[in-house]
Amino acid sequence: MRQPIETGEAVVARANAHVRYPARFQLVAAMNPCRCGYLADPGQACSRAPKCGADYQARISGPLFDRIDLHVEVPGVLAGDLALPPPAEGTADVAARVAKARDIQRARFEGDSVRTNAEAEGELLDRIATPDAAGVKLLTEAAERMRLSARGCAVVPAAGAADLDAPPA
Ligand SMILES: [Zn+2]
Repeated sequence: MRQPIETGEAVVARANAHVRYPARFQLVAAMNPCRCGYLADPGQACSRAPKCGADYQARISGPLFDRIDLHVEVPGVLAGDLALPPPAEGTADVAARVAKARDIQRARFEGDSVRTNAEAEGELLDRIATPDAAGVKLLTEAAERMRLSARGCAVVPAAGAADLDAPPA
């Protein structure tokens, strides 16, 4: 799984042939925080915390975990939440913001060999997402506290988020 995430290709190797298949995809995954699912639930606390969560999350390899750019903790949905009104921003609104962000990136990379922030590496990545001094300090502190790898410090998600929040043209 790590190779296709990184290279956008799946390679099948057999004795007399190597075949490359295109495999660019966006991985969206979900998991419980621990085996019982109540690790941080204030109303139904996990009795084996924090070991329950550590053991469960260790089932995903560190290198794979590291290649997932955004990790978002989502609290459980209560029965009363189902009666709440729908969010103010609907699916069509979000789709329009995503399309606009893609337009921004298409214009940004015109003449380059990539089309999106996710494909940018090295100097190209530095060109689009070099943090200022405060950003470098924040990243360094976060990397030390959260024990992030160099890959984990890449700022591609931040660049994408900035494109999604871009003001109307
Ligand atoms: Zn648990």
